[in-house]
Amino acid sequence: MKDRTILHCDLNNFFASVSLLDNPTFYNMPVAVCGNAEDRHGIVLAKNDIAKSYGVKTAEANWEAISKCPDLVILKPDYKKYCEYSAKVREIYERYTDIIEPFGIDECWLDVTGSKLLFGSGEEIAHKIRRCVKNELGVTISVGISFNKIFAKLGSDMKKPDAVTVISKENFKEKVWGLPVGDLLFAGKKTVLTLNRIGVFNIGDLSYCDEKTLKKVLGV
Ligand SMILES: [Mg+2]
Repeated sequence: MKDRTILHCDLNNFFASVSLLDNPTFYNMPVAVCGNAEDRHGIVLAKNDIAKSYGVKTAEANWEAISKCPDLVILKPDYKKYCEYSAKVREIYERYTDIIEPFGIDECWLDVTGSKLLFGSGEEIAHKIRRCVKNELGVTISVGISFNKIFAKLGSDMKKPDAVTVISKENFKEKVWGLPVGDLLFAGKKTVLTLNRIGVFNIGDLSYCDEKTLKKVLGV
C-alpha cells in the first residue's frame, strides 16, 4: 500500500492563547486559565509558556500555582470562545483535506495524502496551515508529519510553539526510538509500569518485543 501522509496539528496552550486574545495587556505576564478563578481551590485548566517556566502545571490547585508564581494572572475560561476558535481552525484545515479526525478540542489528525498534487509535500502543507492559523486567528499550532497517526502525534510534541516536525521512514528510529514508552497515546501509568517491569523503557525497546510477549503481559 502507498504510504499515507498524516499531519497531527496541536493548538499550543489553547485555552490560554485564546483567552489572551481578549486580554493583550497580559501577553508578557504569567497567565493561567482557572476553573474557579475566585476560589483558591479551583484548578488550573491551561497556562501560557511564561507561567510554565515558573513550574505552574495543568490540573494543580490555584493556590499551588500562586505559591509558585505570586504574580500569576488568573483568567476565567470562556468555553464558547474556545469552541468558536476550534471551529475556525478546523475551517482552515478543511481547505487542505476533508479527511480530518479531531481529538479533543485542540488536536486533529489530517490525512493529506491526496492533497499533495494540489498543495505540495506534507511539510509544505504543514507550514501553509501553520501560517494561516497564526496570521488569521492569532493563535499558533505545532504540527507533526509522518506516515502514521502515532508518529505524527509524537512529532507535534517535539517542537513548539508554531513549529513543524517531520518523522519520516528515514529518520523515525533516530527521532522516536529513544522516547519513553509513556509518550505513546495508549500508554497510561499502569501500562508503563508493566512494560518497565519486563525491561521496556523506551519506544525502541517496545519495537523489539514480539507480539505474543506483549499480549501476555498487557492482556490485550
Ligand atoms: Mg494543545
